[in-house]
Amino acid sequence: MSRYVGAIDQGTTSSRFIVFDHAGTIVALAQKEHTQIYPRPGWVEHNPREILDNTREVIGAALARAGLSASDLAAVGITNQRETTLLWDKATGAPLGNALVWMDTRTDRLVAGYVADGGQDRFRARTGLPLTTYFSGLKLRWLLDNLPGARDRAERGEALFGTIDTWLAWNLTGGPRGGAHIIDVTNASRTQLMNLASCAWDADMLAAFDIPEACLPRIVSSAQVYGVIADETLKGARLAGILGDQQAALVGQTCFAPGEAKNTYGTGSFLLLNTGTEPVQSTAGLLTTLAYRFGEQPPHYALEGAIAITGALVQWLRDNLKLFDVAGQIEPLAASVEDNGDVYFVPAFSGLYAPYWRDDARGIIAGLTRFATRAHLARAALEAAAYQVRDVVEAMQADSGIALRALKADGGMVANALLMQFQADLLGTPVVRPQVLETTALGAAYAAGLAVGYWSGPDELRANWQAAHAWEPAMPAEQRERYYAKWKKAVARSFDWMD
Ligand code: ADP
Repeated sequence: MSRYVGAIDQGTTSSRFIVFDHAGTIVALAQKEHTQIYPRPGWVEHNPREILDNTREVIGAALARAGLSASDLAAVGITNQRETTLLWDKATGAPLGNALVWMDTRTDRLVAGYVADGGQDRFRARTGLPLTTYFSGLKLRWLLDNLPGARDRAERGEALFGTIDTWLAWNLTGGPRGGAHIIDVTNASRTQLMNLASCAWDADMLAAFDIPEACLPRIVSSAQVYGVIADETLKGARLAGILGDQQAALVGQTCFAPGEAKNTYGTGSFLLLNTGTEPVQSTAGLLTTLAYRFGEQPPHYALEGAIAITGALVQWLRDNLKLFDVAGQIEPLAASVEDNGDVYFVPAFSGLYAPYWRDDARGIIAGLTRFATRAHLARAALEAAAYQVRDVVEAMQADSGIALRALKADGGMVANALLMQFQADLLGTPVVRPQVLETTALGAAYAAGLAVGYWSGPDELRANWQAAHAWEPAMPAEQRERYYAKWKKAVARSFDWMD
């Protein structure tokens, strides 16, 4: 049996390839950032070719670093930024345009039209999702309506739709002429075109959004052998797991039992609670989504609190305001002041996601005085992540009736101890960081490894999970609630900006 499992982690900011051993320990890793393209306010694009090239490059680099080849891998999994949408030419593999990134808001008018005709939650029972710019179905609709010739070609099956998992799987399994045209059930659940109960494309949703079925991929489980990789970088390895990034982190954190939850602090932040084999509808502004489906086993569902901007605000302070050169420098800067100086930063750059779902909101900085410095801004930016997570935790407790006892945390921002302590303070519950922080890639590796029998099942995976550090809440409840009330006031002021 091969010694390792590989995972492609194609994220919003960068692409990684990571090789894990049986204990879930990292054996090799390579990573590369890609270009963020902002053609207009609210528009965010990625170049699909760059993403594919970077993915190939990091695979090659990680394997070379560890002196490994494809034959050392029992299986390979993919995890990806979700909802990011593209169309490509089936015959040539050429993208019809850039991919629309999940946080892109160009579908806002389209969304508003549907909302006016039946309300924001009119498709919730069927899809688990409110109407917003976030999901892929209406992004696909925009591409069909706006890229020259796209709709005709899609109707004839000559142009293919995919999210990033689909794009990578098609390219890796088939070479330039394309291979398996598939989407895993977790990614499919974010299109708003899939029926939550049947896990199949929903004919009424396709009709409502005017989407031709001929361009859609086949929905597959999160763990099965989809095919053999033809691409030179991993030639002969089995592609056997696909999970959207947040669902992958849930699996990587081994949250297999109903009531178990994790939060990932990356570009955005995403808190997922496993609710078992029945979907739980939300009335508090959360999403109902697929958690994972391993092979022929019943699908597991999750309640999700999706926050668009957390780490992206750190990037914005770095790139747009030039407050510091690298993300990690935000921590000493923020720690150089005692508190936020009464400054609150609501990063509603793409509207506000859970639990508000306000496409009309835009970012604001509230509470500025002559006293405020760049350090207070940095601190307010970090705290914004924690406040938004508190918003989501409140919603989750309201929907599920489950009181969070501890929060399993991961993602790039957990390197920030100031943020982690503030989060524990603000929630009044411990925040726990696992030893392996690359939980997203680990989850994809777990799915692939389960499919080929490299791991026997969830119990074996659970034994791999170990806490590295826990932050205990230390802030008096009165202070915590006073801060939180101020945040809510700031949030209300970000509303109603867009017409
Ligand atoms: P993704 O998978 O969404 O691309 P990651 O999990 O790699 O994101 O996290 C990257 C994000 O974390 C970036 O937005 C970056 O600004 C932020 N980040 C990285 N290090 C720190 C840090 N020390 N403090 C605060 N934010 C950080």
